[in-house]
Formats: sequence, structure tokens, C-alpha cells
Amino acid sequence: MELKTREYYTEQSRKLKFSTKALIDGKLVESSSGEKFVTVNPATGEPITEITSCSSDDVYAAEKAARKAFNDGRWSKMSPASRKDILIKLGNLIDEHGEELAMMETLDSGKPIYDNTQGDIPDTAMTFRWHAEAIDKLEDSMTAGDGEHVSMVVREPLGVVGAILPWNFPIQMAAWKLAPILASGNSAIVKPAKLTSLTTLKLAELAMEAGIPDGVLNILPGSGSVIGNAMGMHPELEALAFTGSTEVGKQLLECSGRSNAKRVLLEMGGKNPCIIMPDVKDLDHAAEEAVNAVFWNMGENCTSNSRLIVHESIKDVFLEKVIEKTKEWKTGDPLDPVNHLGALIEKSHMETVLRYIKTAKDEGGKIVYGGNRILAETGGNFVEPTIFDGITPDMTIAREEIFGPVLAVMTFKTEEEALHIANDTQYGLQASLFTDDLATAHRMARALRAGTVSVNCYAEGDISTPFGGFKQSGFFSRDNSLWANRQYTELKSIWMQM
Ligand code: NAP
Ligand code: MG
Repeated sequence: MELKTREYYTEQSRKLKFSTKALIDGKLVESSSGEKFVTVNPATGEPITEITSCSSDDVYAAEKAARKAFNDGRWSKMSPASRKDILIKLGNLIDEHGEELAMMETLDSGKPIYDNTQGDIPDTAMTFRWHAEAIDKLEDSMTAGDGEHVSMVVREPLGVVGAILPWNFPIQMAAWKLAPILASGNSAIVKPAKLTSLTTLKLAELAMEAGIPDGVLNILPGSGSVIGNAMGMHPELEALAFTGSTEVGKQLLECSGRSNAKRVLLEMGGKNPCIIMPDVKDLDHAAEEAVNAVFWNMGENCTSNSRLIVHESIKDVFLEKVIEKTKEWKTGDPLDPVNHLGALIEKSHMETVLRYIKTAKDEGGKIVYGGNRILAETGGNFVEPTIFDGITPDMTIAREEIFGPVLAVMTFKTEEEALHIANDTQYGLQASLFTDDLATAHRMARALRAGTVSVNCYAEGDISTPFGGFKQSGFFSRDNSLWANRQYTELKSIWMQM
């Protein structure tokens, strides 16, 4: 997407028209309670618009519509080629409305327009097209059988699948869940995060335009403790896909156990390490990647590499480079494309991040860059990218997910110690490793307990690679790749006498 100026985005964003209703059974409707909530611009503190606030009655209504659609086969039994065409059309419509969606996302979430235009929105469109393209390419199988029976292993859609979404990559996470859920023939009920519903509500309109049949896709804005919980406790819903905090993820597992043992697929928190081995020659490249790894999306990123674990022999020179690279990351108005860092999602979250900074200081950490709230006069939630030196693995900021722009720098002496520090966490989502030695790279990549390991770069892989976490970062869930299409299906064995 072509990048425009701050003036252009500021003016155009004033003209945006927002979708503020729920999508239930193919209709845009107000919630049954008539209640509304206000969504706020994190960069100004100003209200943007009012959105309908759904109730548990709306969850039941959406499930009934989704169930009817699933049972009559209007989507679940549609020919794979036709389903594919509709989802590809949806991807194309997202691209056509790309600039509008990017500005909407920036207003609602505080994420930089640079990232939304260059990353989130094009990736969202591509994600729908990619999973759609897989629909008629995945194959079922026949097994050897015993010579007297035909033995087939087939996959079938689960039924009605719920998705509960986070606020940090709002429309992109909607796509990571919805594209494979729908591609696999399921009906869906989606709850966007309350703080960032606008782009997912726009997606509802585009899905209708693309031709997704009524009832197949239902989108319910509102509060997690109400709708999310009603989805978790629903007696019929076959599965629930979730991205968010480990705390809420665990609650959803309980809900499953207390209701109908629905499949629960969880993507949760992270406290990801970035290890710099002493053999790295191109420290400038490693520093550039390490800065991107921690500060991208203001650190409001489940794969944020918030622990930098550097060999003690190169720590001082490397840290100097990291500080220099960090200076290139401008913080400010997220509608200004020169800013790579925007506003944190809400005031209370900013205060949490500032509390972590204070705790780190109190525990003996040494600030070598940043550390403060800035641009308070804008009314926005801006915090400087912040770097702490002198952190030990037992300190709070080395252990807890901060979900803000705060880097904890630690040192090690041996490979064994580096791996011990890296793996000494309840999480296991992603890890980055820098080394010039091939054998070290292979050995350490295998030893790191994380769902994704990137070597000599910071990365989450791409749409072709499964994304999910070990330990308390995940629960039987992989977004992206053909694994995602498969995980929204049940396996069935058909054993037929000849
Ligand atoms: P969160 O508080 O867990 O919220 C996530 C979603 O769950 C929101 O839609 C929220 O609704 C809903 N929710 C809240 N309470 C609920 C309940 N009792 N029952 C059912 N649903 C409920 O997390 P967040 O603060 O939005 O996101 C930050 C977290 O997400 C971080 O821990 C981060 O690491 C994680 N994350 C993980 C990944 C990954 O792929 N592993 C990706 C991105 C983020 P409301 O909006 O109404 O509260
Ligand atoms: Mg908002």
C-alpha cells in the first residue's frame, strides 16, 4: 500500500464511517440489551464512536443462526471451489478497502499507520486468500487396511467455532482465526477485543459483500467477561479459539470442563529471549534485529523479545549499538508515517508499564535509555522505548510479560547458561538466536523450548509456518499454515467391508 503523509491521513481519518453493529444471522443489528460502549483513540484519549454491546442472549442467537447454517450445509457442504472463491473475494475486498481499514486500526488501537499499511492490513487480505487457496488442495487419505476392508481417514468441519480476539493485532488476529475456521467449512462466532472492535466490524460488512452466506459468520462486539464467558460456557459450541492472556486462556479451559468439553485452542503470553553469542561478527545487524524484536508494535506483541541475553564479553559494545538503533525508532502520532512507535492501548495499561519500569529501578536495574511517559500533552498513552542494563534472571522484569516497550538486558558466560536463562520461564512462544556458527545454531535452536525459533533474525515465520507456543504460551493451537486449516476439523475413520 502506498504510504501517504500525516496531513493526508489526519484529514481522511476524520471522514471515516464506522460500522458499530453486531453481525448476527446475516444482519447488522443492535444488541438485544440496547447497551453501548465507547471506543477511545489511545493517541488522544478522545472518544471515537459508540459500539453496540452484546449480551449472552446475543451469543445464543448467534449460535442458533450459525448452527442452522452449519446443519443445512449452505457453507459446510458448499463445493470447496465455491467456498474458495468467496474467501478470495473477501481477501481482495480487504485490499480494496486497505487504506480505510489501516486508518481505522490506527485510530482505534494506537498502532502506527506505517505498520498497518505495510503489514497488518495486506497480511490480513493475504491470510484469507492463502487459507482459501488451501481448501481444494488438502487431501484425505486411505490406509493400508487389512485387505478385507476399505479404510479411509477423512476430515470434517467441527461445527460452530468461537473466536475470542486480542487488541494488539486486531484485524490480523481476526484473519488468523477466521480464515482457517471458515476455509474448513465451519460456522463462526467472533468476539473482537472491546478496545479494538472497529476493523473487525468493518470486516463483517466486507464478508457480506463477498457472499459469505447468512449465519455462517457472526460478529459480536462487547465485553469478554460477558460474551467471552458465555461462549466459553456454551453447551453446544464445538470449539473456541483464543488469543490473549494466559490468565483468561486458563479460565476458558475451566469453562470447557464445566460445560461441554468443547475443543479449546489457546495462543497466550510470552517472555521471549534473544540470545547473542560471542561469535557474531555483524553486531550491527544483530542490534537492528534485537531492537525490532523488542519494540515492534510498542512491545505489545506476544513474541516481543523482551529479554536480551548477551555474552558478557560483547555486552558493552552490543548494548551501545542497541541504544543507537533504538534512537532511530520515533515515537509519536501514529497517523504520522515517520513514527514507528505509536500509543499504548489504554491509560491503565500505560500505567502498568510505568509501574514495571519503577519496579525494575527499585530492584536494582539501571536505565540506559528512555524510562518515561512522553507527549502527555496530546492526551495519548506514549512511553519511550526503555532499556534496562544490569538485570538478573530473578528480577520481575526478567520474568513477567510487560507487553510494553521495555527491554531487560542480561549476560551469560557459557552456552549452557544462555539456554538455561532463555528456557527458565513459564512461557515458550518464540526465541531469537544470533550466532555465526552453523553447529551452534542447530544445537541451540533444538534446545530452545519455544514454538518458533528464529536464527540470525527476529521472525515469527510466515503464513506457511505454524505459529503457537510451548508451555503456558499455548494450548494445542497453531495459527497459520495448513496445520491451522486442519485443526478446525475432526478426524473420522471410515472402515468399510468389501
Ligand atoms: P485478554 O485480557 O486475555 O483479552 C483477550 C480477549 O479475551 C479479549 O477479547 C477479552 O475481551 C477476552 N476476555 C477477557 N476476559 C474474558 C473472560 N473472562 N472470558 C472470556 N473472554 C474474556 O488479553 P489482552 O489483554 O487482550 O491481550 C494481551 C495478551 O494477549 C498478552 O498476554 C499477549 O501475550 C497475548 N497475545 C498472545 C498472542 C499469541 O499468539 N500467543 C498474540 C497476541 C497477544 P475484552 O476485550 O472485552 O476484555
Ligand atoms: Mg480503541
